[in-house]
Amino acid sequence: MQKSNRKVKKYMLFDTHAHYDDDRFDEDRDKILSELKNYGVTNIVNIGSSMKTSKSSVELANKYDFVYATVGVHPSETGELTEADMEELKQLSKNPKVKAIGEIGLDYHYLPDDVPPEVQRKWFVRQLDLAKELSMPVVIHDRESKGECLEILKEKKISNGVVHCYSGSAETAKKILDMGMMISFTGVLTFKNARRAVEACKIIPLERMMIETDCPYMAPEPHRGERNFSGYVEFVARKMAEIKNVTYEEVVRITDENAKRFYGIE
Ligand SMILES: [Zn+2]
Repeated sequence: MQKSNRKVKKYMLFDTHAHYDDDRFDEDRDKILSELKNYGVTNIVNIGSSMKTSKSSVELANKYDFVYATVGVHPSETGELTEADMEELKQLSKNPKVKAIGEIGLDYHYLPDDVPPEVQRKWFVRQLDLAKELSMPVVIHDRESKGECLEILKEKKISNGVVHCYSGSAETAKKILDMGMMISFTGVLTFKNARRAVEACKIIPLERMMIETDCPYMAPEPHRGERNFSGYVEFVARKMAEIKNVTYEEVVRITDENAKRFYGIE
C-alpha cells in the first residue's frame, strides 16, 4: 500500500541564468545553493558578466556539481577590456563546467553614462568571434539596442545562442527564432505590465524557450522587488504554462530538456 505521507514529486527546474557571485549573496550563498534541491531546482548556469565574475562563476561551478558556468563580459563592463582578457576568457573556457560565452551584447539604456556604443560593439563582435572559434553557444544581453544587436548576430551568422531576459515583441521573437536561436524568460513574464512579453511567449514554440531567474535581479510576482533566487524560477514556469495552455509539468520537463541540449549538459 502506498504511504499517504509520501513527498509530493518535485520537478527538475533548470535555472539557466543566475548571478550567485553577486555580493547580495555574500551572507548566505552556500546556504541558498545547498538548499535549492528542496525547491526542485536541479541545475543552474551561473553567468559571467565581467572578467572578475567570469572567474568567480568558474569557481562556483567547480564547487557545486549542479552549477555550470559561462564566461564573458557584459557590454557595460567592456570599457577597459584588452586582448589579454580575451586570452584569459579562452583559457577559462577550457574548464569542462564552462558551457557558453556570455553574457555579451549591447546595452544602450544608460547612455550617455555608459561605455560608448562603438566600444560595446567592438567587444561584442570580438566575443562572438571567440565563441565561434571555441564552437560554444552565446548568451545574449540586448537592452534598447534598437535592433543593432540582432543585426550584428545576423551579420556574424550566429545561430547557437539564447537571447536572455526577453521582453521584446512577438515580431522580434520571430526574427530571433528564424536565426535559429533560443529565447529565455525571467520573472518579467509575470509582471502586470508585461503584455508584450506575454504576446511573444504565445508564438514561441515550447521547444525554443528556456526559463531563468537572472537572480538576484528580476524576482517574479508575487515576489517582485525582493532579492531573487533560483527557487522562484517556478513562478516563471507556472506563468509560461498558463500562457501556452499546457501543464506546469510539461513546461518544466521541456525547458529542462532544452537547457540541457543548449548548454550541452548530460
Ligand atoms: Zn544576467
